[in-house]
Amino acid sequence: MMKQDIRVEFTSAKKPKPDPHDLAFGRIFTDHMFVMDYDADQGWYDPRIIPYQSISMDPAAMVYHYGQTVFEGLKAYVTKDQEVLLFRPEKNMERLNQSNDRLCIPLIDEELVLEGLKQLVAIDKDWIPKAEGTSLYIRPFIIATEPFLGVAASHTYKLFIILSPVGSYYKEGIKPVKIAVENEFVRAVKGGTGNAKTAGNYASSLKAQQVAEEKGFSQVLWLDGIEKKYIEEVGSMNIFFKISGEIVTPELNGSILEGITRNSVITLLKHWGLTVSERKISIDEIIQAHRDGRLEETFGTGTAAVISPVGELIWNDESLVIGSGETGEISKKLYDTITGIQKGAEADVFGWTTEVASLSETK
Ligand SMILES: *Cc1c(COP(=O)(O)O)cnc(C)c1O
Repeated sequence: MMKQDIRVEFTSAKKPKPDPHDLAFGRIFTDHMFVMDYDADQGWYDPRIIPYQSISMDPAAMVYHYGQTVFEGLKAYVTKDQEVLLFRPEKNMERLNQSNDRLCIPLIDEELVLEGLKQLVAIDKDWIPKAEGTSLYIRPFIIATEPFLGVAASHTYKLFIILSPVGSYYKEGIKPVKIAVENEFVRAVKGGTGNAKTAGNYASSLKAQQVAEEKGFSQVLWLDGIEKKYIEEVGSMNIFFKISGEIVTPELNGSILEGITRNSVITLLKHWGLTVSERKISIDEIIQAHRDGRLEETFGTGTAAVISPVGELIWNDESLVIGSGETGEISKKLYDTITGIQKGAEADVFGWTTEVASLSETK
């Protein structure tokens, strides 16, 4: 493929930046966005960075009807030396293509899209908040645009990357959450789309999430879709347990989303000399381990929270309080290490970060 140039059209009307102490998640967007189109003749063409704007689409565009769409999520961070870092962004590009393959969306040139992503972040770098725990959330996504109501793969697509300054996930420091074991609804099944980042998985998870919230829980623990016996994920995070000193996480089985944080956690734990097993874990095993006093820690992993300790699991009407409801030692160490690497405060021994810009060059 010929190397494509990314054209840039700067905005003439910069928006006011939000109060950095008052940031929520995903409601405010920066001045620019990356866009690229696809059609069968040209392949992916016209990669460009343009002013952030609304788009006009035919109401028959296929994405609105059958959900042929994929997305990614990653963050940019500012270090104390005013450098802008990305965390393992090439993994997000790789996973975007895995999702594309599953959804019959034409594969992207990972290097080109990553280059566009880096240029976009560099252009809007003044939007990256600097306060403790804040970051710039990056959302690449692809939609099927062909106006056609037939059930088939679209012949045209658009890829976007948009940026959103986000506040700290933990306003008062890392805090354990209360999770309900979901016995009725399932998130995904083997052979379905659970291992792809595609909209339908999230649409189908809303009901369980809503019911859980009404009962005062923050997320649900998803069990497998066939036997409702084996643990899969927690909310939209991967999950880990520490049982009698051993750390276990469900093995990738086709219905679990392969998290980049999950992979980083496994790599770090092994690096620290701890035993990590990827295997099937039944809910019965967890309940038994809790009864025997062997369930030491439970935590979710994902880009948004990095590490989310589980302080309590609700199973039917039984409450399992884990580690007196406090954040465990491993959870805390993982959180501090990963956020430290992301913020350039910890040695990046695995070469996980990429510098995209420096804020000190401006002004
Ligand atoms: C994105 C996602 C994760 C976490 O992936 P990260 O790459 O660690 O952010 C886990 N489970 C689901 C269902 C997800 O969508």
